[in-house]
Amino acid sequence: MPAPRRYVTDAIVLSRFDLGEADRVLTLITPGYGKLKAIAKGIRRPSSRLGGSLEPFAELNVALARGRTFDVVTEVRVGHAWLALRDQLESAATAWYLAELADRSLEERHAAEPLYALLHRAYELLDAGMAPGRVARWYEMHLADELGQRPEVDRCVECDRMLDPAETFRWVPPLGGAVCQRCPGPPAERTALSLDALKLLKAYQRLDVEAIAALRLPAAAEREVEAAMRDFMRVALEREARSLAFLDEVRAAPGTAGTTAPV
Ligand SMILES: [Zn+2]
Repeated sequence: MPAPRRYVTDAIVLSRFDLGEADRVLTLITPGYGKLKAIAKGIRRPSSRLGGSLEPFAELNVALARGRTFDVVTEVRVGHAWLALRDQLESAATAWYLAELADRSLEERHAAEPLYALLHRAYELLDAGMAPGRVARWYEMHLADELGQRPEVDRCVECDRMLDPAETFRWVPPLGGAVCQRCPGPPAERTALSLDALKLLKAYQRLDVEAIAALRLPAAAEREVEAAMRDFMRVALEREARSLAFLDEVRAAPGTAGTTAPV
């Protein structure tokens, strides 16, 4: 949808960089106008009216004027500030990762209502204290669905047979999901997937997020599903998310270990 000369929209900041002396360029996700780049002129000056409200991890209401290269932010109001999310380093690092996935998934100026709603919900959940790893897996699964790349966890992606719990499985993201034991293929590209992990992947597709938050799970299955979904997203989006390095660092740091354990 082409934006009018001046318009107002809800928005979440996906990324930003400083430009020149005092400006900042923001990548925003909006429900109606999709992803767009906007410039906040003079925002880094102490006297700026836009001030500190144009921040990530908040739902903003932003007034914009169409510009030649970037649209120009003229006013900002904070709708929801997810303050608790910012207090926890792992939640904040996860929020960056989710924003990067949304950024990578969208082309500029394409409608993005479902993705906006998904990111909004994920931030609410992080803010409410749900385990960041669970929020991330739930989000990855639904994002893949929105991209038309729902992982196949019920049938073998090669022979289309229903996966049999009595057999073994492998996870093959380039093929779109799980492969049965009768379809061997080159082993290097096929990671073994335990039955617990397969069940958990199914749960992320089928259960509502409240039920997922309440699941009690072996930590090993959570780790396996994390690796499986990272691989899947890397293949779907054609590269590894840069923010994962920071997220891994945060989780490895003393004091944050164990925060991905079942809630
Ligand atoms: Zn098969």
